[in-house]
Amino acid sequence: MRRTAYLPVLAAVMTAAAALVLAQVSTKESQAAMTPAQALQRLKDGNARFVAGQPKARDWNAKVIATATGQYPYAAVVSCIDSRAPGEIVMDQGIGDMFSLRSAGNVVDTDIFGGLEFATKVAGAKLVVVLGHTECGAVKGAIDGVKMGNLTALLAKIQSAVRDSGPGSSKDPAYVTKVTEKNVRDSIDEIKARSSILRELSASGQVGIVGGMYDVATGKITFLAD
Ligand SMILES: [Zn+2]
Repeated sequence: MRRTAYLPVLAAVMTAAAALVLAQVSTKESQAAMTPAQALQRLKDGNARFVAGQPKARDWNAKVIATATGQYPYAAVVSCIDSRAPGEIVMDQGIGDMFSLRSAGNVVDTDIFGGLEFATKVAGAKLVVVLGHTECGAVKGAIDGVKMGNLTALLAKIQSAVRDSGPGSSKDPAYVTKVTEKNVRDSIDEIKARSSILRELSASGQVGIVGGMYDVATGKITFLAD
């Protein structure tokens, strides 16, 4: 009787092992072997597939099974809450590939720093991306000085990017993009300034930190040069 009780367990383990191979999920080994530059290339390739309308065919159920006992994502992406900019979809990533941290206007705070420290130092991700996007409502709100509930404090975090970008209007898409790019760069500076863990991982080359801009009109991401 006892012996038969093992069979379903054994079958489940075999299934999980087989799924791991078939599902092509990130593994401890593949994550450890990956460099920050390779992780960035993966995201670039994924966005190119998305733009071309040729996302990878994925067995989502197999990926669920294969990742049930652990995760080894290679990237952590901080992006806006905007419904038009879902990171996993626009970079054609699967389950277990990337951490996703989202806040309006992709502003960073202690909670985001903590999440990024977990993603990199504990869980081994090799790349941090701060992803802004065109037509960002939060950035427009900051430009217009909107004050409303808890949004007031959130938008205040974008004000330095507005000031540094000079005068302009929220109705000018080019100006909104300019402020958003500055906000992305400010967020990266803040991550390095306020997280000694990320600063050290970045300085030693173990983790890359890059900015990017997602275009809601084309689906294309342009990664920002340092
Ligand atoms: Zn936004």
